[in-house]
Amino acid sequence: MAEQKSTITFYGGVGEVTGANFLFKDGPSGLSILVDCGLFQGVKAFDDKNIEAFAYDPKTIDYLFVTHAHLDHIGRIPKLVKDGFNGVIYSTAPTKEIAEIALADSLNLFKKENEDKEPFFSTADITKSMELWKTAEYHETINLKEGLRVSLKDAGHILGSTMFEFARGENKLVFTGDLGNSPSPLLYDTESIKGANYLVMESVYGDRNHEDRSERRNLLEDAIEDTMRAGGTLMIPAFSIERTQEILYEIENMIEESRIPLAPVFLDSPMGIRVTDIYKKYARFLNEGVRQQVEESGDSIFRFAQLHETLSTDESKAIFQANPKKIILAGSGMSTGGRILHHEKNYLSDPRSTLLLVGYQQMGSLGRLIQDGVKTVKIMGQEIAVRSQVRVIHGYSAHKDSDHLLEFVDDTKDTLKKVFVVMGETKAAMFLSQRIRDYLGVLAKAPEAAEVAEIDL
Ligand SMILES: [Zn+2]
Repeated sequence: MAEQKSTITFYGGVGEVTGANFLFKDGPSGLSILVDCGLFQGVKAFDDKNIEAFAYDPKTIDYLFVTHAHLDHIGRIPKLVKDGFNGVIYSTAPTKEIAEIALADSLNLFKKENEDKEPFFSTADITKSMELWKTAEYHETINLKEGLRVSLKDAGHILGSTMFEFARGENKLVFTGDLGNSPSPLLYDTESIKGANYLVMESVYGDRNHEDRSERRNLLEDAIEDTMRAGGTLMIPAFSIERTQEILYEIENMIEESRIPLAPVFLDSPMGIRVTDIYKKYARFLNEGVRQQVEESGDSIFRFAQLHETLSTDESKAIFQANPKKIILAGSGMSTGGRILHHEKNYLSDPRSTLLLVGYQQMGSLGRLIQDGVKTVKIMGQEIAVRSQVRVIHGYSAHKDSDHLLEFVDDTKDTLKKVFVVMGETKAAMFLSQRIRDYLGVLAKAPEAAEVAEIDL
């Protein structure tokens, strides 16, 4: 019987950033392997796509490899398990631990926002997922079947983020997951890939370059100094994974170097606090510089006298009673919910205070409205005049920009047969494919949803 060809089918993260879900069918071994099983996020219409049945039978899948713990890469894993997946899940240890927190948080949020709807997975499904979930180290190679092996490489995007290299003999297929905006304050640089024949790569910023990054630390320092001098509150809406820890790390260093006035720093995010604990636990995944610093000070990272972690609601409420000269980090990153809303309600109308936006603000979110300069906002039914300062720092993106994505491909271009450009909006993915073809002379395309590509592996 003729051997089956190996194929990749692109079930999610196609024509859009979110919902990453790729099925790699290995011909020689007959294995069915998924890479990522993410949530579709963004507009409301995406809700149905998350609830829909998978286009394949989860019972027939042997493995799920998870690149990192962002919801758009893990959010439908409990549903996959609920629908019959009983294979093995693999990721690094921090990815597994952050995923457990993020999935529980996502379930809570779903319940809060959809009181009339049954969630599409349960706590029991999360627990079952964790039971099927094994961990591996960077540079570890796992032998699968019929000579097919897989190795893990550091993607430099968030703690534990991984690229998976599937190989047989000299042939190699690489799934990048999200690629970090190296150098990062906390993580190692994205490892370079050599000898790949096929790449399935992200393209969130496929058509854009970041602003100069060297300025970001100075801008943060200025925002702190100016706000503290004015006697106001600095509010920083921050994503719980990576951004929160990056900002904390920067503030910790500024305090140690006596570059900013001393003021209490509140980490007012239960999920942010839990994820920060995982960063402390897996300090070995952080870059050399950070680890050295931790060793020299003989203390744990993210622990300084001014930092107050407010886990309970009562502690959170008490922040308002403290002197207004303070820094507050809270979720959500785009002010679409979470505790940041309480602080914005309290301080947006205070001219001494500052709202500092350090992450992407999606169209339609409260954060975006404020960034765009609206003068009045409605928070929890109350009209609030925006009289505080609003500042934006773009340099903290966790994704490579267009030039650096191209550089990443250039490192392995001699062996490349084809690049599949995914996890970007259509425009970004098309633009990056074009650049890869034009500048590197490598075949590249942005696949369509559910497209099947044959590969030699
Ligand atoms: Zn990500």
